[in-house]
Amino acid sequence: MALIEATAQKYHNLRFNNIAKSLALLIKQAEDNDLSYLQFADILVEHELNLRNNNRLRLNLRRANFSQIKRLDEFDYSFQTTITKKQINSLMDFSFIDNRENIIFIGPPGVGKTHLSIGIAGKAIDAGYKAFFCSSLELLEILELAEIKGNLKQQINSLAKFDLLIIDELGYLPMKKQHMYNLFQFINTMYEMRSLIITTNKDFTNWGDFFCGDNVAVPIVDRIIHHAKIFMLGGESYRLKNSNCV
Ligand code: ADP
Ligand code: MG
Repeated sequence: MALIEATAQKYHNLRFNNIAKSLALLIKQAEDNDLSYLQFADILVEHELNLRNNNRLRLNLRRANFSQIKRLDEFDYSFQTTITKKQINSLMDFSFIDNRENIIFIGPPGVGKTHLSIGIAGKAIDAGYKAFFCSSLELLEILELAEIKGNLKQQINSLAKFDLLIIDELGYLPMKKQHMYNLFQFINTMYEMRSLIITTNKDFTNWGDFFCGDNVAVPIVDRIIHHAKIFMLGGESYRLKNSNCV
């Protein structure tokens, strides 16, 4: 075995797979650029760190389960004027995640609630946090399945591995009693432990109706809105902006 292959194998054995894969190229670049030993030592470790970081970001993006890719810098604040860029930018230090605070976007369809949620979560992933997106229907299905299998607690704990959970469209459809009970378990576990972003078309004054006035409604809403930043979005639907509807 050539020396370079034997050396690459040693890096591989130590799980420096990225150095192992590119060792020949990195050595050639170092020789071509007359790098010092110290510079080369640093380049090797930087190469491994950068690629590991990129892989982790890619993995976290895949695990985030975004329904679509939406970027914050594509959000048009001249169309949606009930929230400012400054308000959204002030969230970008992610202290709301560190402090386990929630964000709630309330508003009618098409005003950008989902876009903003995915945009914020995308930036949080870039910053090294783990996020998970699901519609409230998806969440209730996940919880129901787990409950039937008798592992609701484990399922909720595995969701709690994410730093930030987005529940999209909470309150669009009425919920069964068991769904409400499962949701309560979920919200109760996440309360002051993880951050939630919730989008809804219901003002809280109507949440009682949506939860069918059930006893569990009050503690659910109470936990969600305690430590929450609430944004009321209004205006026209962006979806109708370019349509031919009059
Ligand atoms: P909501 O979740 O409030 O129903 P969405 O976030 O799904 O609305 O927005 C509907 C569509 O319009 C999406 O494709 C979204 O990217 C786009 N959109 C909404 N508001 C804006 C905006 N202010 N700037 C750019 N695109 C927007
Ligand atoms: Mg939406």
